[in-house]
Amino acid sequence: MQILDGKALSQKIEEEVKKGVKEFKISTGSVPGLAVVLVGHDAASQAYVSMKKKACDRVGFYSVTHEMPEDISQEAIENTITMMNKNPNIDGILIQLPLPAQIDTTKILELVDPSKDVDGFHPYNVGRLTTGLDGFVPCTPLGVMELLKEYNIDVKGKNCVVVGASNIVGKPMASLLLNANATVEICHIFTDDLTKHTLGADILFVGVGVINLIKENMVKQDAIIIDIGINRTESGKLVGDVDYENVSQKCSYITPVPGGVGPMTIAMLLSNSLKAAKINAKEKIK
Ligand code: NAD
Repeated sequence: MQILDGKALSQKIEEEVKKGVKEFKISTGSVPGLAVVLVGHDAASQAYVSMKKKACDRVGFYSVTHEMPEDISQEAIENTITMMNKNPNIDGILIQLPLPAQIDTTKILELVDPSKDVDGFHPYNVGRLTTGLDGFVPCTPLGVMELLKEYNIDVKGKNCVVVGASNIVGKPMASLLLNANATVEICHIFTDDLTKHTLGADILFVGVGVINLIKENMVKQDAIIIDIGINRTESGKLVGDVDYENVSQKCSYITPVPGGVGPMTIAMLLSNSLKAAKINAKEKIK
């Protein structure tokens, strides 16, 4: 069994982005700018935003976090987004999800300028992804594809089973795999007999949020396992959705948690933001 080392690859990508930022600064006189909207005091969201901010600092981005109270109005968030859409120093806008219940999340995501939508959540970019056109792709599944590429794992013609069908993980993961000519199956909470599906996977992608959902008897010998889940055990340990100890004995490759898909997500956010800055710089010249 070989580990798919997302930590190592993410550091390599970060170095490339850092170099790209220096070149960007020489050619434009400015640095890429990322704005984050963080609403409320959810500990996990705060931790993610802090990690993203540190990563921005490491590669030399300008970054700003708009922290807003839990009881913020729809209008106030919309005004902030409109302001960031117009701000020439901001190339990427990231709305940390989930937003509080009183907020219409769809409306908020639709308001982000698609050319600054570095998370790839705007329906315009979702449409481009499903039609196989270039655009912004959600960072987590994009990171998974980069990790597979790094280890020369070609998904073409492979049976790929994606467990979890959210808009930010499962669905874009499936689209990327389909675009890369894999045979794709998507499973979710209503899937009957999950094992029947997972056993057929040459490559199994799991992004659900349930500790030990995938057990040894659910995977084929020598399958490739991509564990996207991030869960915290009662003792505070970070684990994925796969029973790592036992499944790792049976598979050919596996992503660890932590150190697998997680760091790749942040690396792809940096890479998407640099891409946005380059696009926006070209627009400014026009
Ligand atoms: P979500 O709650 O929006 O979606 C979960 C999906 O799993 C749904 O499609 C649901 O139908 C499915 N599901 C739930 N229980 C199931 C079961 N028993 N069997 C089969 N399918 C089931 O969650 P999300 O935002 O997509 O996140 C999923 C997991 O991925 C979480 O653990 C989250 O922390 C993690 N995540 C990791 C990263 C990363 O950087 N590695 C990024 C985003 C999310």
